[in-house]
Amino acid sequence: MTKKIFWTAPYRSRHESRITTVNGADITVDETIFFAFSGGQESDHGSINGIPVITARRDGLELIYTLPPEHGLTLGQAVTIEIDWDRRHRLMRLHFAAELVLELFYKQHQGIDKVGAHIAQNKARIDFLWPQSIAPLLPALAEEANAIIAANLDIIKGFDDEANERRYWEIAGLSRVPCGGTHVSRTGEIGPLRLKRENIGKGKERVEIYLAD
Ligand SMILES: [Zn+2]
Repeated sequence: MTKKIFWTAPYRSRHESRITTVNGADITVDETIFFAFSGGQESDHGSINGIPVITARRDGLELIYTLPPEHGLTLGQAVTIEIDWDRRHRLMRLHFAAELVLELFYKQHQGIDKVGAHIAQNKARIDFLWPQSIAPLLPALAEEANAIIAANLDIIKGFDDEANERRYWEIAGLSRVPCGGTHVSRTGEIGPLRLKRENIGKGKERVEIYLAD
């Protein structure tokens, strides 16, 4: 099974690894920094030995990378994995921004129900089942999220269950949340965030999250 270095070293953008399987265009490696779509967080962009990764996906605890079919990589070959760091860092910041907003919603509005979430490079969104416009809730929520960000709190990460690769993050005194995404070290790294409501109908409300930069 691929060792997920993006958990223990989320700031690494280049990593030496080795090919463990080759199945046509699909390969696996023994260690990886290249995140594959999970929990709503989009996959990294990057390359293996300079060959662009077309898709990265999870299969159980394994990560499978699809390369152009003429990739030429062979079993046991030493390779260098590189990721687009600017993209990853934005994904990490927006991912945690979304988690923070979600936690505050859960704390302040009992019974609110999340029905979807997606983290892209330019914005994150969370969809809720909520019978009326969610807009009136947003100013106070953004203010509280921005206060936690400004306090630059430490974000602790670890395994709840290492064999099954169940991860958590924790901010002391605030929350402890199961999550297999990649996380920033401190809340201040997110920078000020902005919330925007979208009406998506059918009793669902969308909250979009934007970073200041
Ligand atoms: Zn997370």
